[in-house]
Amino acid sequence: MKIGIPRAFLYYKYHYLWESFFEELGIDYIVSPFTNREIYKQGTIHAIDEACLSSKIYLGHIDYLLGKCDYILVPRVFGYEDGTVCTKFQAIYDVVNNTFREQNIHILYYNINPKETANEFRSFLKMGKFLGKKKAAITRAYLIAKQTQKINQMMDLQKQERLLERKELKILLVGHQYNVYDRYIGDPIIQTLKELGAISIIADICDKKEAIEASKKISETLPWAFNKELVGAIEIYREKVDGIILMSSFPCGPDSLVNEIVLRRVKGIPILNLILDGQEGSAGMETRLESFIDIIKLKKEDQHGKM
Ligand code: SF4
Repeated sequence: MKIGIPRAFLYYKYHYLWESFFEELGIDYIVSPFTNREIYKQGTIHAIDEACLSSKIYLGHIDYLLGKCDYILVPRVFGYEDGTVCTKFQAIYDVVNNTFREQNIHILYYNINPKETANEFRSFLKMGKFLGKKKAAITRAYLIAKQTQKINQMMDLQKQERLLERKELKILLVGHQYNVYDRYIGDPIIQTLKELGAISIIADICDKKEAIEASKKISETLPWAFNKELVGAIEIYREKVDGIILMSSFPCGPDSLVNEIVLRRVKGIPILNLILDGQEGSAGMETRLESFIDIIKLKKEDQHGKM
């Protein structure tokens, strides 16, 4: 049996957990490749026009995996203890199910729902049993996978702390993991910043509990868990970076509201609001990044003399 894992959406939050879990259970899996032009194109064909760029990309990854595995992993997300998720996220299981019904898609799922008594472990237990595994083996695999996830997240955090100590310009990238880490839409920004001599600090890499608490300094009423984490990360990192880039995919409802709040309430640091639309040609984006970095350099020169 082979499981297909779409390299989009929650992959970037859970890939250590998922990959380790399946490996420990001895289940073969395939991860779709980094997003490319073809995956994006397929996603736009399957999605409705109003869908956000990130969900179009997700459908493109599902399309890629069809026929290459027995089940495709699509978790059903209702929300987290710290807040809800946007409706596109909540709907994605049903969207995938309906969009690819005629292709006879087989979905493997588990629930992420803070209201159910079932916690993550129980959901994994159910999923493991569905895959024909015994309770003891599933429990062991889950515990190892959790530990793997924890260790890797700690390593990511330590790596970022080392980056923060460097002398180069540091730019905080505030965007959903699935946008920032996506090779097609997020990576060109990281690469351009690198060419301009700036280091990207990823807002998503932070202590999540600390971030949720810190987010209250900017807004106490945000409903979305992921946005709370990102806003909190701004509070955590703002004194350690030279500028902030808000990265959103078009047309993201939660981000458009939250970015507006950030632009109004976070003062004293340059902020660039970038909307990713998946269009070809990066010249416009590069020009905006260049100008942004120039402004930061000029500001620093004014404060400390020529760099
Ligand atoms: S939060 Fe925004 S980018 Fe993410 S799924 Fe919802 S609309 Fe799309």
